[in-house]
Amino acid sequence: MTYQISFSGGMGSAVSALVALENDLDFNLIFADTLIEDEDLYRFNDDVARACGKEIIHLTDGRTPWDVYAEKRWIGNTRTAHCSTELKSKPVRAWLGEHAAPSDPLVLGMDMSELDRIERAQKHWAPRPVVSLLNRYQIWRPQYDEILARYGIRKPRLYSQGYEHNNCGGFCCKAGLVQFERLYRTNPKRFAFHEAEMDRVLAEIGPTARPFLRQVQSGVTYYLTLREFREQLQDGTMELPMFSEAGCGCFTDEEAA
Ligand code: SF4
Repeated sequence: MTYQISFSGGMGSAVSALVALENDLDFNLIFADTLIEDEDLYRFNDDVARACGKEIIHLTDGRTPWDVYAEKRWIGNTRTAHCSTELKSKPVRAWLGEHAAPSDPLVLGMDMSELDRIERAQKHWAPRPVVSLLNRYQIWRPQYDEILARYGIRKPRLYSQGYEHNNCGGFCCKAGLVQFERLYRTNPKRFAFHEAEMDRVLAEIGPTARPFLRQVQSGVTYYLTLREFREQLQDGTMELPMFSEAGCGCFTDEEAA
């Protein structure tokens, strides 16, 4: 049996790989690249793969999430993340169909705190088994740093900038105002790229297009473009909520819902 690890660039999947190594499991590292990843993700993935003595199976069809939104004529949002379906689930499913035995488990880097997501993924990927090695070997998040340190691997820089995930370079169509303020503050150049891409895709889709950022004022929901959001930040008129979505139900939620 070969464990097929969805190697996303996050801490959970990286630690799953190291745990598989330490427990003498046979495994592959499968990375579905959205082409808008943080540069440091590639360094991190390479470090982990080197420690495991593995080559990364790198899947991409050349499209970014913005290309998917333009093609589907619908910008992804908290309810519909076709970026994840097109750029992650489908290519991984196709690769597994060609190269893996039907009984090979798909490993997701989720732990006990994400049992609901694991259960949704199990329904979504059935009959292929979906497992969490973090749960099986009772690995908790506070142990991640220590496990990486054993191999001299630095964690991805997005975590130290306050992001909860290392996906899509801090961008996510499911993320809320708080995360996009963080993106503007920590990486204005990347924010500007997404602002321009949103303008492009809104123009290509036309009047039916709707941006994903939502602002609720006096019980009314307004949809904001990234440009409008940035202008409000610069004017000092943007009131950020205490909490908002950090995004990324990537790879499991979008088709399982
Ligand atoms: S992280 Fe967000 S934007 Fe990127 S592929 Fe996943 S759902 Fe889409």
